[in-house]
Amino acid sequence: MIAIGVPAEGKDEPRIGITPETVKKLVKSGAEVTVRSGAGLRSHFSDQDYADAGAKIAKTDEEAVGKADVVFSVRRPPLGLVKAMKKGAALIGMLDPFSDAEGLDAMGKTGVALFAMELMPRITRAQSMDVLSSQSNLAGYKAVADAAAAFERALPMMMTAAGTVPAAKVFVMGVGVAGLQAIATARRLGAIVTATDVRPAVKEQVASLGAKFIAVEDEEFKQAETSGGYAKEMSDAYKKKQAALIADHVKNQDIVITTALIPGRPAPKLISKAMIESMRPGSIIVDLAAERGGNAELTKPGEIAEHKGVRIFGLLNLPGQVPVNASSLYARNLQAFLDPFIDKEKKVLAIDWEDELAQGTAIARDGAIVNAMVAERLGGKGASGAKAATKSASAKSAPAKSAPSRSAAKAKAPAKKNGGTRKPKGGKTT
Ligand code: NAD
Repeated sequence: MIAIGVPAEGKDEPRIGITPETVKKLVKSGAEVTVRSGAGLRSHFSDQDYADAGAKIAKTDEEAVGKADVVFSVRRPPLGLVKAMKKGAALIGMLDPFSDAEGLDAMGKTGVALFAMELMPRITRAQSMDVLSSQSNLAGYKAVADAAAAFERALPMMMTAAGTVPAAKVFVMGVGVAGLQAIATARRLGAIVTATDVRPAVKEQVASLGAKFIAVEDEEFKQAETSGGYAKEMSDAYKKKQAALIADHVKNQDIVITTALIPGRPAPKLISKAMIESMRPGSIIVDLAAERGGNAELTKPGEIAEHKGVRIFGLLNLPGQVPVNASSLYARNLQAFLDPFIDKEKKVLAIDWEDELAQGTAIARDGAIVNAMVAERLGGKGASGAKAATKSASAKSAPAKSAPSRSAAKAKAPAKKNGGTRKPKGGKTT
């Protein structure tokens, strides 16, 4: 019997890595699930819901994880809790793989196998396990919902006997997973939506959502997408042309949602102070790139800043503000990842360490760091660093030191086998 344990998250994290739905699936696959009492409450899953689905309820975190072969977490748990786990057990979560390498090394030295879900290779088989996509999608939605709630005017056009209320203008910068959902949400609310990106591939997607694409479409733009589907850092000449175009456009916008990221780089600065000053008082910018420094010059990560009547939302962990859905999707991501590693006949954990997904996400095994980038960040300081495998991580980037998980997953690209794979073997999937 495989034992799965789920502790409570810290006070700043409302999500949880298991839901009654995934408990049922895991129990059916031969697992025994133990959930810490109250751990699901902020996602509105009660102890009774878990018990009804077949889980045991533990009084403490230590009791939840102590006998577990696998522990599911959202964030990196405290070291003390990892020490309470069995040697050889697996901890699977968003472990923020590029921050605090020493902390990861200490966790790895306990003998617990560490898997960082942010490093999931973006291949077809792993789509159901892609936590960046499942969470970014909700972030894109929440960014527009927050902006609409704070905006002191209506988004849709309304024709009334007393006159016409004009539709609000929403501009989405960066059309990846979050940006596409932001466009779709703003369109549903009746706004006039425009969007920009440096990757030509998104032009059609923007149009198909009923929005207008705006970009400097020169020769450089045509080459701006990497083979992995990411954006490249653009030249200074391009940035200048882009800034002029954006400056002209932004001054007429009511709401700007920015999501632009480039793997291995800080978030590109796309909205200058002068552009913010050109916007009408009451306008709103929601900067989803806040965790990586922000796309707007005046973004304050974790805060709502105000400058001459324009509010700039730099709030972090937007998926955590839609915890019911975020937990449901995240729990499915975890269950989908673990499922192939459960021997259904013998009902035991059978991690295939040769599997691309296990290799891509593994940070530590048998007391040693097995991720080349984490080892590199340890700079040989970690005893286990020397053993770092080159097979590690499909990973993306090295973030700002304190950046939370989303950013972490986009950090410095290492030289490695799967390096930043975005396109599945059978072609791009999203
Ligand atoms: P991301 O979070 O890395 O970046 C967000 C967007 O910002 C990207 O579209 C990028 O092109 C854009 N951007 C960067 N610099 C910019 C600039 N200066 N100006 C304007 N825009 C800029 O992106 P993401 O959401 O992770 O998605 C990246 C790609 O990966 C997309 O093509 C997406 O469809 C693809 N994807 C594939 C899979 C899969 O195959 N399993 C899963 C998820 C996403």
